[in-house]
Amino acid sequence: MTERKLPPGLHRETLAVRAGIEPSQYGENSEALYLSSSFVQPDAETAARRFAGTEEGYTYSRTSNPTVTAFEHRLAALEGTEAAIGASSGMGAILMLCMGLLKAGDHVVCSRSVFGSTLNLIGREFGKFGVQTTFVSQTDVGEWRAALRPDTKLLFAETPTNPLTDVCDIAALAELAHSVGALLVVDNCFCTPALQRPAELGADLIIHSGTKYLDGQGRVLAGAICGPAKYIRDVFDPVVRTAGMALSPFNAWVVLKGMETLGIRMQAQCASALELARWLEAQPKVARVYYPGLPSHPQHELAMRQQSGQGGAVVSFDVQGDGPEALRRNAFHVIDHTRIVSITANLGDTKTTITHPATTSHGRLKEEQRQAAGIGQGLIRVAVGLEHLDDLKADLARGLDTL
Ligand SMILES: *Cc1c(COP(=O)(O)O)cnc(C)c1O
Repeated sequence: MTERKLPPGLHRETLAVRAGIEPSQYGENSEALYLSSSFVQPDAETAARRFAGTEEGYTYSRTSNPTVTAFEHRLAALEGTEAAIGASSGMGAILMLCMGLLKAGDHVVCSRSVFGSTLNLIGREFGKFGVQTTFVSQTDVGEWRAALRPDTKLLFAETPTNPLTDVCDIAALAELAHSVGALLVVDNCFCTPALQRPAELGADLIIHSGTKYLDGQGRVLAGAICGPAKYIRDVFDPVVRTAGMALSPFNAWVVLKGMETLGIRMQAQCASALELARWLEAQPKVARVYYPGLPSHPQHELAMRQQSGQGGAVVSFDVQGDGPEALRRNAFHVIDHTRIVSITANLGDTKTTITHPATTSHGRLKEEQRQAAGIGQGLIRVAVGLEHLDDLKADLARGLDTL
């Protein structure tokens, strides 16, 4: 299946619905779902060439699949990278990244505020294989610089972070990485290419959890790495075909169709999130709001520059309370008085979700680690969906007004 031929210079909105592969001989308008684990070869000679990689053509879905290819072309078009490669999940993509680029003795510099499983995968699991990682501040470029070593291979960042929405400077980190011949990898799960294109700012590779906003409706797990064709083809293709963290064609198809509405969903969810953040800031029982779209956010200007003037769709806030016990009680009170939003730690859904990070996503940390990360017992994270804003405010007000 060949990449769909489109005129050059198309806008991202157009690419989101048009980029992919050429339709089959049936001329389907909605992309086909090729649920097939293997592909029949016209003859033994062709099979030999395809298995040797000297001729394009599908052989087996762990190696490649037309629906997955369509997903990869569309995501690469949105990110503005030459290529992309699908993975079974966001973590599958990060595993592929590490397997492809790291070996014993290599050094990684990573923000200490990245997704918890990312911290564990890079720091603990790859630590077992002799990869050394220095964890540094999300926002202090000086700490990243000080951590660089001659054997540093990767800088890994995620922006904004979960749940406190701290923003790092992608362009500054790219320059730093390149000054020592290392690569900058950015996990772009929170902003998606609808808001933030790390490649335009100098990042080398981009990680996605398609599970979040790309699907956008909380249905399937998916992941991807986006970047230059030579990395995708020469480094990551061989990893996925031997290690098997391949993206299922069904999941690829769901996310492929999800990406068609990514732009308008992000716009609507960001607009609601901004209004909700402003409203929360005015609530007497709210101590602090964390949202990059608010002027009170410490990296507000950087975020506006880097994220197309949008704050994203995740808003976190601290409720008021005296001491950890009261804070936790008050946070639980607000969460338990909601009747519309879903109490779940997932995000990126059209359905708004609410969670208490200190006892869920960050529940396994020691109290000192949580304190260092700024995750208090009074912290609540809301990932804003597509419900009417007034209904969301009423849902949160029910608890806040009765504290
Ligand atoms: C969810 C998430 C991941 C992991 O993605 P999965 O698809 O759940 O494996 C990675 N990074 C970030 C920022 C995430 O939010």
